[in-house]
Amino acid sequence: MQAAASGGDLTVVSPIDGARIGSLRTHSAQDAAAAIGRAHDGFKAWRTVPAPRRGELVRLFGDELRAGKETLGQLVAIETGKILSEGQGEVQEMIDICDFALGLSRQLYGLTIASERPGHRMMETWHPLGVVGVISAFNFPAAVWAWNFALAIVCGDSVVWKPSEKTPLTALGCQALFERAARKFGDVPAGLSEVVIGERHIGEVLVDDHRVALLSATGSSRMGREVGPRVAARFGRSLLELGGNNAVIVASSADLDLAVRGIVFAAAGTCGQRCTTTRRLIVHSSVKDALVARLKKAYAGLPVGNPLASGVLVGPLIDGRSFEAMQSALRSAKEEGGAVTGGERLLQEELPDAYYVRPAIVEMPAQTETVKRETFAPILYVLTCDSFEEALALQNDVPQGLSSSIFSNDVRETEAFIAAGGSDCGIANVNIGTSGAEIGGAFGGEKETGGGRESGSDSWKSYMRRATNTINHSRDLPLAQGVRFDV
Ligand code: NAD
Repeated sequence: MQAAASGGDLTVVSPIDGARIGSLRTHSAQDAAAAIGRAHDGFKAWRTVPAPRRGELVRLFGDELRAGKETLGQLVAIETGKILSEGQGEVQEMIDICDFALGLSRQLYGLTIASERPGHRMMETWHPLGVVGVISAFNFPAAVWAWNFALAIVCGDSVVWKPSEKTPLTALGCQALFERAARKFGDVPAGLSEVVIGERHIGEVLVDDHRVALLSATGSSRMGREVGPRVAARFGRSLLELGGNNAVIVASSADLDLAVRGIVFAAAGTCGQRCTTTRRLIVHSSVKDALVARLKKAYAGLPVGNPLASGVLVGPLIDGRSFEAMQSALRSAKEEGGAVTGGERLLQEELPDAYYVRPAIVEMPAQTETVKRETFAPILYVLTCDSFEEALALQNDVPQGLSSSIFSNDVRETEAFIAAGGSDCGIANVNIGTSGAEIGGAFGGEKETGGGRESGSDSWKSYMRRATNTINHSRDLPLAQGVRFDV
């Protein structure tokens, strides 16, 4: 379903300069319901196609992404304000997940299980699930959909995608590349991949439609709090990828050179607009002054500006609301006793409709309410601790549970950090930052991050339904648990 490319009611703006880069006609709720209907029909045809053949479609899509990497990466940068290298990295991540899914298309294994009954065999089989709805956030406008899409397609599902209303052009670009792959494949059923354009009320159509078997929703915890119970109310499945409040612990034994590089990329990169951005630094008092001085120096020298220009490392915030949220968090942190370095607006005269900022470092006396909230902007709160136990307690004492990391050369600390009593996050790293995950592992987090897991490892299981089969090849009919029922 194509949205009109111009003359529409949804204005698309580039955060680079605030200029309009397009206007699209949004879809109505009826349009969205019709798209789900087509996807449902598409699913019924696609589920019978052998999985390795389904993998071939994803392989072709990966080829289109390779050919279009530069252009699509540029579009991602223009629509989100990421630097070019990160825009290209996002497309590379899509290529990676296509490769992963292609291999997976021959590995959708079930188990063979020993039966307690003589002459019986048990096994589990994995079947396509249905229509997968994908609601995505602005900051990863393509990769998050691709994580879902590539797996869903090899698993035999169809997909209806509601991208962020801030980044619909990237979505249409992805769909165009998929359609090219589909033409090369030949007999792709209509409705296998649908894109619906609109604001949250269009997302709500996916939330409430019983034909959407799995809803994968990426965005704020506020959004997840609304979406999760509604999908559950109709006994649908949801996969929630929500906000994070990620911490780096720096121990007294840490390699500070490594820590500085890891923290600056994870805290200031992407202008603080990754779900895995480092938002809290919990540093041992013995190295605090040295580390913070080095971070402040690095922050002061960060090239902030047009993300398409070479050498720039930090682009703009997505919009004025984001800027206001950042300033409001900085004001609250100050009221709570924080000492703020940076955070001011930059390039305002040259680019009055864009929101560039100097990433901020805020030294806090305690982990206050402001620190416990996710502000989707480059603010790094610094907290001091005197022991690993204290650092770990602070790290876990927030509502979110996405990503975490420790810089330490003490093996007892690093092992304890990733052990059962350690970090309570879905991602727990050692001697690297909190952001920049690879597709091979399962991605997601606990608590208010929503509990979903996407991308690698066995995340594919969310996109299929499991059947347990018991097969009797004997001439008797023994009952399980020794139950007698003689007729
Ligand atoms: P957002 O919550 O404002 O919007 C995300 C998407 O949800 C959009 O497509 C929006 O239209 C839709 N939406 C909002 N309310 C809805 C509702 N009630 N019903 C249906 N759809 C609804 O988030 P954003 O500002 O685009 O993105 C930033 C947030 O996303 C941050 O909190 C960030 O941490 C989070 N995020 C999480 C992950 C992850 O994998 N955990 C990845 C990227 C972003």
